[in-house]
Amino acid sequence: MRVSQIYAPTLREIPAEAEIASHQLLMKSGMIRKVAGGIYTYLPLGWRTMKKIMAIIREEMDAIDGQEIAMPAVQPAELWLESGRWRVYGAEMWRVKDRHDRDFCLAPTHEEVVTFHIRNDVRSYRSLPLRPYQIQNKYRDERRPRFGLMRSREFLMKDMYSFDVDEAGLDISYKLAYDAYSNIFRRCGLNFRPVEADSGAIGGSGSHEFMALADCGESQILYCSGCDFAATDEFASIKPVGTGTGEELREVETVYTPDCKTMEEVSAFLNVPINRTVKSMVYKADDEIVLVLIRGDRQINEVKLANLLDVVELGFAEEDEVRKVGLEPGYCGPVGTKGVRIIADEEIPLMINHECGQGQKDHHLLNVNYGRDYTADIVADIKLVEAGDACPCCGAPLLTARGIEVGQVFKLHTKYSSAMGARYVDANGEEHDMVMGCYGIGVGRTMSAVIEQNHDDKGIIWPMSVAPYQVLVVPVNDKDAELCAMAEDLYQELKRRRVEVLIDDRAERPGVKFNDADLWGIPLRVIFGKKCRETGKAELKFRADGRVEEVEVSQLADVIEANIRRMLDELK
Ligand code: ATP
Ligand code: MG
Repeated sequence: MRVSQIYAPTLREIPAEAEIASHQLLMKSGMIRKVAGGIYTYLPLGWRTMKKIMAIIREEMDAIDGQEIAMPAVQPAELWLESGRWRVYGAEMWRVKDRHDRDFCLAPTHEEVVTFHIRNDVRSYRSLPLRPYQIQNKYRDERRPRFGLMRSREFLMKDMYSFDVDEAGLDISYKLAYDAYSNIFRRCGLNFRPVEADSGAIGGSGSHEFMALADCGESQILYCSGCDFAATDEFASIKPVGTGTGEELREVETVYTPDCKTMEEVSAFLNVPINRTVKSMVYKADDEIVLVLIRGDRQINEVKLANLLDVVELGFAEEDEVRKVGLEPGYCGPVGTKGVRIIADEEIPLMINHECGQGQKDHHLLNVNYGRDYTADIVADIKLVEAGDACPCCGAPLLTARGIEVGQVFKLHTKYSSAMGARYVDANGEEHDMVMGCYGIGVGRTMSAVIEQNHDDKGIIWPMSVAPYQVLVVPVNDKDAELCAMAEDLYQELKRRRVEVLIDDRAERPGVKFNDADLWGIPLRVIFGKKCRETGKAELKFRADGRVEEVEVSQLADVIEANIRRMLDELK
């Protein structure tokens, strides 16, 4: 392709809304353009990289007997009512009506449709396992679309589903998908880590997220300094820790605490360590107001709490909602509280002689004890695990890192097959629910993650495997016919050899050409400069480390091919 003709409109200025490097560089290099919030067009360079990532994904899915299909993006509500998710998906689901006023949605995912097909078409254990997959647009009306392709509202996802006869079969499918995902992300040049994860709205239990490590990542990972443990902060749990252990239970004492708003202020005023205080928080869980108790220095994990209560909408109750149930905002406590359910973190019963709100403005209680002074309706793990907490496997302190969730694998077990009647007949003629798994990769998010990990202040540094083009040929002076002819010869020769090559044939200054070259991030650049005519050598420049090799013009095509092969092999 000739740069003079390519549709890759570079920008001088970074669009103001682009906060992170990948979003900025995708826009600046002319790889994508925004159509509406969270909705993008891929321009030729961006789409070439997307296609390369998809080719890698297809190879690895086909290698584990994945079978590519293509399901519709428009899905009837009936299927979602069968699975029970028409309600659960909430506002994120893009709902549409047809001209007859019938409900449909734009696919946020495809468990329902794929289960519908398999239950209609597959009856015998002999046909299993099956692993259909597709790469297709998904629609999610995200609360906060941002970061370009990282969190968009229409995005390409590879989704695979596995159907097995039993749990042992699911274990095999899951392991195959897990290993295939590791291959995919390695081949894309990502520094990633699989971590234990919550299974969210998809349901089921047993899940890993594949995290590309990056400071801009929206996910927090906890990993162990001493062993292999790694999990998302939504999912991680630790052994509950008690406080005041061994102390005798003392008499409850009411204390006056003027102007103490935060847990830190209460703790300092009363001279009680903050880990011996209890925070009482009022949540609205769908339509129910609940009182939630957690140790003063800890945070609530709202994902765990929403899962526990099986609700879609969860957030702090408004002050008037708190008053309506007879509680005093800011001074709630569990002792004597009636009419609302109390949910306590599992550490609360282990806190001897703790402090908590008294129920009236400016008052707190000391020496309160679970069991003696109050109880909760539910005691469960609802806390956020943080850096420094003890690893649940080995006890060493946990560390944190930020990650971009590029893929996730789930064991669904029989959640969808039993709800939707996907059953098979075994060798003895008995019927069973199929055992399912599902496996997703965000293609655009993967491209963004690759850029996050591979760029500098000048532009993108594509790994060879996913670069839109492998080589960029740059004749420095477009007025120099002899140089241009040499560059053109190389361009033609590389094309003959099926190398993916660009030639910058524009009548532009060298500075402009070099800036664009750095921005586009093509891994190999061949520069035909003034010297070339005297020495018979051209410069081969590596985008990744800036290294330059002088290569005989007659050798160039061979040397380039060898380097491409080597760079691809390094990612295998
Ligand atoms: P998140 O927690 O980031 O919202 P998710 O867990 O809901 O993602 P999944 O349902 O597991 O996402 O989807 C599979 C993959 O699709 C994700 O791992 C991610 O790579 C990609 N993905 C999900 N939501 C988006 C989005 N809004 N924009 C781009 N890619 C997305
Ligand atoms: Mg996910």
